[in-house]
Amino acid sequence: MKLRFDGGADTVTGSLVQIEVNGRRVLRDCGLFQGPRRLAFERNRSFPFAATEVSAVILSHAHIDHCGNLPSLARAGFEGPIHATHATVDLCGIMLHDAAHIQEQDAAYLNQKTNRRGLPPVEPLYTTADADVALRWLRGHAYDEPVEVAPGVTLTGVEAGHVLGAELSVLDVEENGRRQRVVFAVDLGRRNLPLLRDPEVVADADLLVIESTYGNRDHADARTARARLGEVVRTTLGRGGKLFIPSFALERTQEILYHLHALEAEGALGRVCAYVDSPMAGAVTRVFERHLGLFDEEAHELHRRMGSLFPPWVRFTSTVDESKRITASDAPCIVLAGSGMCEHGRILHHLKHGIENPRNAIAIVGFQAAHTLGRRLVEGEKRVRVFGDEFTVRAEVHVLNAFSAHADRRELIEYVRAARPRRIVLVHGEDGVRAALAEALRAEQTAPVFLPAAGDVVEL
Ligand SMILES: [Zn+2]
Repeated sequence: MKLRFDGGADTVTGSLVQIEVNGRRVLRDCGLFQGPRRLAFERNRSFPFAATEVSAVILSHAHIDHCGNLPSLARAGFEGPIHATHATVDLCGIMLHDAAHIQEQDAAYLNQKTNRRGLPPVEPLYTTADADVALRWLRGHAYDEPVEVAPGVTLTGVEAGHVLGAELSVLDVEENGRRQRVVFAVDLGRRNLPLLRDPEVVADADLLVIESTYGNRDHADARTARARLGEVVRTTLGRGGKLFIPSFALERTQEILYHLHALEAEGALGRVCAYVDSPMAGAVTRVFERHLGLFDEEAHELHRRMGSLFPPWVRFTSTVDESKRITASDAPCIVLAGSGMCEHGRILHHLKHGIENPRNAIAIVGFQAAHTLGRRLVEGEKRVRVFGDEFTVRAEVHVLNAFSAHADRRELIEYVRAARPRRIVLVHGEDGVRAALAEALRAEQTAPVFLPAAGDVVEL
């Protein structure tokens, strides 16, 4: 058995591992590589193997850096099952259509420009039709339900505690009379996240492949997130302001809604006015409501007590006109909108109209990459550009660090200690961060630690 780390080894994007076992080639994830346009196009278009020779894909979850290049794989001729949990299957329909739409829009925009210069047209990385082909290959399974993904290779997906439907993949392999267990803990979530059950510790791994995104940092305790959010809502709306929350459509939006509902149940928040100004987040929220069985005991308790998981008074907008009415109104309210890093989407319209009003506030609840508007706000910049115009940041900016769906340094080390694997492979981390975690694990003398570069092979 061989594992080849083709993507997401020393970066946190474009997750892709080839597994060669018993004469078959199986992929674990097929994520979109995100980066400068030309480089990203080349990386995502050309696979380091023939797509027609891949017999199956194991898909961990519906984040684009894990599922977002499946349409390219389908376009390149892959025909085989893509195994994922039922919830991931449902979410992928939304995520891949959105990703294809962005690719198509991006190409159309560039073609408008290149047409004027007489250059050949740009083609999208993939289209909605390619996404539809990939979606037809998805095969759903439940957590803890064994699935044969190749001869002698049984996959069991267990709770990752990361986002709805995310699984840690346990591969029990029998090859030439030898039995081995390989576990992928990528992406690995956290304990005590709202809604989700805690990640499951899988013992007896001959090899544990584990992420290292936050391998050198500790987050604030996830349990403090709700109280901080409650404070920010009360002060902002109490002084007649609006609270803008740039938010990813998958998971973070639903977590905030759930926290608001729990705060209401605790009597810590009156009935406030709140909007989810993102049709995609609305669609994702409906998927959550179809998978109530996957949530933790606290979520079930809230559901029993309040009659629903999310607050029934939250309004979901679909049209641009509805969105404009929120912007035009002076009434205090909470506005959740994408994009999560304030790079595009409806949040920009709300910021443009509200960022200079000192009664308003912006709550940053997600990771903000370098060079994004979200990062500038986190860093306390006072003059920022929105749609090309300069604005003075007079709204209060709150950075709520307890919101993260990835295990931090302490949680990663605790996971390894509890799982006691015989070998460890660290992936999904910027290089310095990954090296720092490797050093911490070596100091623990848990097991040999390997840090593959892109294209490196590990043999079992
Ligand atoms: Zn993820």
